Amino acid sequence: MSASIIDGKAIAAAIRSELKERVAALKAAKGITPGLAVILVGEDPASQSYVSAKEKACAEIGLFSDDNRLPATTTQEELLALIARKNADPAIHGILVQLPVPKHIDPEKVIAAIDPSKDVDGFSPVSVGRLVLGQPGFVSCTPNGIIQLLLRSGVKTAGAHAVVVGRSNIVGKPLANLLMRKGPGGDATVTLCHSRTPDLGAYTRQADILIAAVGAPHTITADMVKPGAVVIDVGVNRIPAPETPRGYRLVGDVDFEAVREIASLITPVPGGVGPMTITMLLHNTVQAAETAATR
Ligand code: NDP
Repeated sequence: MSASIIDGKAIAAAIRSELKERVAALKAAKGITPGLAVILVGEDPASQSYVSAKEKACAEIGLFSDDNRLPATTTQEELLALIARKNADPAIHGILVQLPVPKHIDPEKVIAAIDPSKDVDGFSPVSVGRLVLGQPGFVSCTPNGIIQLLLRSGVKTAGAHAVVVGRSNIVGKPLANLLMRKGPGGDATVTLCHSRTPDLGAYTRQADILIAAVGAPHTITADMVKPGAVVIDVGVNRIPAPETPRGYRLVGDVDFEAVREIASLITPVPGGVGPMTITMLLHNTVQAAETAATR
């Protein structure tokens, strides 16, 4: 039997509509418009398009987006000074520095300079530390989006064996921590695999929930999946497709057509995890503004 599809676009749209209502309520009750400062250094085309998508998404739910596009020659000191101004600006509730930054800038210094109460990307050492310790704080957007996909699809994580393939700081590690956290969307038994894991299939075949965050097409094939498993595909890979206008198409890390015959639920690429990432950035910004309003 073919797996049901987890429709990331529909789930993201539902969350955005809830957020729009929260934004309107905050404006009506406190006169506060949540503000997100987006900082881009340089002219990398992929980064420019991500930043534009984030700004458009902000506008759609009524957030104020403060667009800061700086030349590639910007010094680290200038960037840190801008972050300090945004930290101090009460109209700004979230700060996002689009990565990667040019080579002469140290991304760790930049991320650490963001006030933890405005770290809506959840990448700072303080945010990551809070996540690991089970304390409230901002959770990075892609892993948080995956937990929402599971929760809103009725997937029971408590007691499930979740196998995460990939240990990056932005996906694999925070996701493993979320899944093992106490409470809704957590309480799973977690195995974290990576490129040095021998016989990957021996682990993935034990997964009730299998999450691939690798960045290589067809890493997860049908023989690596337990019948009835829930499969979340984080990967976004371009493969040549001369027949398409762009000359490529996007695929995930999972052999979708074969695995969908075995899994119970599966995310497509595109249209699965992808739409959730910006949505959770909006969520974190609204949450930051709501928290600021109570101070
Ligand atoms: P990274 O390259 O930072 O990490 C990849 C991880 O996969 C590493 O831990 C690596 O192991 C592991 N790995 C690589 N090859 C294998 C293998 N053959 N078997 C097992 N593990 C392997 O990638 P990211 O985490 O940043 O991203 C992963 C994918 O998710 C990418 O395709 C990216 O584009 C996509 N992505 C999608 C997002 C979205 O919004 N949809 C957001 C973020 C990422 P090791 O540590 O040993 O090198």
